[in-house]
Amino acid sequence: MVDRTGAQNKMRRCDNCGKAGAIEKRITRIYGRGSNALVIENVPVITCPHCGVSYLEAKTLHEIERIKLHRKSFAKQKPLDVATFALQKAAAL
Ligand SMILES: [Zn+2]
Repeated sequence: MVDRTGAQNKMRRCDNCGKAGAIEKRITRIYGRGSNALVIENVPVITCPHCGVSYLEAKTLHEIERIKLHRKSFAKQKPLDVATFALQKAAAL
Protein backbone atom coordinates (compact mmCIF):
# COMPACT_ATOMS: atom_id res chain seq x y z
CA MET A 1 0.00 0.00 0.00
CA VAL A 2 1.37 3.33 -1.00
CA ASP A 3 0.35 6.47 0.81
CA ARG A 4 0.81 9.32 -1.59
CA THR A 5 -0.71 12.06 0.55
CA GLY A 6 2.56 12.45 2.43
CA ALA A 7 4.51 12.91 -0.78
CA GLN A 8 2.11 15.51 -2.13
CA ASN A 9 2.10 17.67 0.95
CA LYS A 10 5.62 17.13 2.13
CA MET A 11 7.05 19.93 4.20
CA ARG A 12 9.40 22.25 2.43
CA ARG A 13 11.49 25.09 3.60
CA CYS A 14 10.45 28.43 2.18
CA ASP A 15 13.14 30.03 0.00
CA ASN A 16 11.98 33.45 1.10
CA CYS A 17 11.61 33.31 4.90
CA GLY A 18 13.38 30.01 5.59
CA LYS A 19 10.55 28.51 7.65
CA ALA A 20 9.39 24.95 7.12
CA GLY A 21 5.85 24.30 5.95
CA ALA A 22 5.79 25.73 2.44
CA ILE A 23 3.25 23.84 0.35
CA GLU A 24 3.46 22.71 -3.26
CA LYS A 25 0.37 23.42 -5.32
CA ARG A 26 -0.29 22.50 -8.91
CA ILE A 27 -1.67 25.26 -11.04
CA THR A 28 -2.32 26.00 -14.70
CA ARG A 29 -0.30 28.80 -16.20
CA ILE A 30 -0.60 30.55 -19.53
CA TYR A 31 2.44 31.87 -21.38
CA GLY A 32 2.17 34.29 -24.26
CA ARG A 33 -1.11 35.60 -25.56
CA GLY A 34 -3.69 35.21 -28.28
CA SER A 35 -3.31 32.34 -30.74
CA ASN A 36 0.31 31.96 -29.68
CA ALA A 37 -0.55 31.32 -26.03
CA LEU A 38 0.71 28.15 -24.45
CA VAL A 39 -1.16 26.62 -21.52
CA ILE A 40 0.91 24.51 -19.16
CA GLU A 41 -1.06 22.45 -16.69
CA ASN A 42 0.13 21.03 -13.38
CA VAL A 43 2.91 23.55 -12.83
CA PRO A 44 4.20 23.12 -9.27
CA VAL A 45 4.11 26.37 -7.33
CA ILE A 46 5.53 26.65 -3.82
CA THR A 47 3.34 28.69 -1.50
CA CYS A 48 4.45 29.71 1.97
CA PRO A 49 1.76 30.20 4.64
CA HIS A 50 4.20 32.13 6.83
CA CYS A 51 5.23 34.98 4.53
CA GLY A 52 2.58 34.51 1.84
CA VAL A 53 5.08 34.25 -1.00
CA SER A 54 4.47 32.03 -4.04
CA TYR A 55 7.34 31.06 -6.25
CA LEU A 56 8.55 28.55 -8.80
CA GLU A 57 11.62 26.49 -8.11
CA ALA A 58 14.61 26.82 -10.43
CA LYS A 59 14.07 23.31 -11.78
CA THR A 60 10.44 24.20 -12.53
CA LEU A 61 11.50 27.32 -14.44
CA HIS A 62 14.00 25.23 -16.39
CA GLU A 63 11.35 22.71 -17.31
CA ILE A 64 8.96 25.47 -18.40
CA GLU A 65 11.66 26.93 -20.65
CA ARG A 66 12.23 23.47 -22.09
CA ILE A 67 8.51 23.00 -22.74
CA LYS A 68 8.30 26.42 -24.39
CA LEU A 69 11.27 25.63 -26.62
CA HIS A 70 9.85 22.28 -27.67
CA ARG A 71 6.20 23.14 -27.45
CA LYS A 72 5.42 21.36 -30.70
CA SER A 73 6.44 18.03 -29.23
CA PHE A 74 5.01 18.64 -25.74
CA ALA A 75 1.76 20.37 -26.52
CA LYS A 76 -1.50 18.78 -27.52
CA GLN A 77 -4.16 20.82 -29.20
CA LYS A 78 -7.10 21.08 -26.85
CA PRO A 79 -10.27 23.07 -27.30
CA LEU A 80 -10.08 25.82 -24.77
CA ASP A 81 -12.69 28.12 -23.29
CA VAL A 82 -11.07 31.46 -22.69
CA ALA A 83 -12.95 33.97 -20.56
CA THR A 84 -11.93 37.53 -19.85
CA PHE A 85 -12.48 38.76 -16.34
CA ALA A 86 -15.33 41.18 -16.92
CA LEU A 87 -14.90 43.48 -13.92
CA GLN A 88 -11.40 44.49 -14.98
CA LYS A 89 -12.49 47.18 -17.44
CA ALA A 90 -15.98 47.90 -16.19
CA ALA A 91 -14.76 50.54 -13.79
CA ALA A 92 -13.07 52.50 -16.57
CA LEU A 93 -16.16 52.67 -18.75
ZN1 LIG B 1 8.04 32.01 3.67
